[in-house]
Amino acid sequence: MDDQGQSRARFRKQAVRLRQLRKVYDGQGGPLTALDNFSCDIADGEFAIILGPSGCGKSTVVRIIAGLEPPTSGTVLVNGAPVTEAGKACGMVFQSYTSFPWLTVLENIAFGLRYTAGGGRRERHERAREFARMVGLADFENAYIKQLSGGMKQRVAIASALATDPGILLMDEPFGALDSQTRMAMQEQLLSITEGSDKTVIFVTHDIEEALLLGDRIYVCTARPAGILAELDVPFPYPRTPALRAQKKFGDMKYEIFHLLRDQAYAQMLEAAGERRR
Ligand code: ADP
Repeated sequence: MDDQGQSRARFRKQAVRLRQLRKVYDGQGGPLTALDNFSCDIADGEFAIILGPSGCGKSTVVRIIAGLEPPTSGTVLVNGAPVTEAGKACGMVFQSYTSFPWLTVLENIAFGLRYTAGGGRRERHERAREFARMVGLADFENAYIKQLSGGMKQRVAIASALATDPGILLMDEPFGALDSQTRMAMQEQLLSITEGSDKTVIFVTHDIEEALLLGDRIYVCTARPAGILAELDVPFPYPRTPALRAQKKFGDMKYEIFHLLRDQAYAQMLEAAGERRR
């Protein structure tokens, strides 16, 4: 975090407080511990990255913050209060496309507004139009989801989540299914949208470059069960551009995080291999 006021995060108060989260699933071969002693504080306005090897428990953390499932034990506070209702404080974007294929782009974005925004159909559609424009889909308002590319589908999902004006945006590997060029374009677009906003973003990824390009702060997870291995401030001021990747400091941090994650990914692989043998 710099002191120059260049960072998007203003760190007014805590948006999310997680304390000693533990989550045990009923796995096929017996109890499976996905999280253990997972604790962190995510500040209001922060672009927080949850980074860790695949299968370590990152999505589990996000689903718990969203209220989609309870922890086995531990404390979750969102805006200072326990989570009582799924999706109340948080907008969500997942890796798989979650829009309704039988609705148009505009109808999809307007859909969630039925429950959150006042006004009638015309107002909802006006707002939906504004967010379609924001994600570059103005010319596709009346297209059906099945007519869109993967990147466009994710833009609909992002617009739908943002249109409801959540204080916290949860993004679970939202660009994970996209090809690398589309992914880079989407990262830039997300930066341009969030840099001008005061939203808290909690973004899950296993991609170190994506984490460094987007985040204020990176929460590096251990192999499963996920806990916090390290918390790193990302020192690059916003607005950020893809050219950041060419900076020496970017390369140095990428290497530092790579080393942190390498052992975790290896541990995760051994664990998975052991499970297959059992
Ligand atoms: P990540 O997001 O880091 O890839 P997840 O949080 O999706 O990891 O999963 C962590 C572990 O918990 C994995 O081993 C996964 O198979 C297991 N898991 C996730 N959800 C369930 C569930 N509903 N029931 C049983 N096991 C689950």
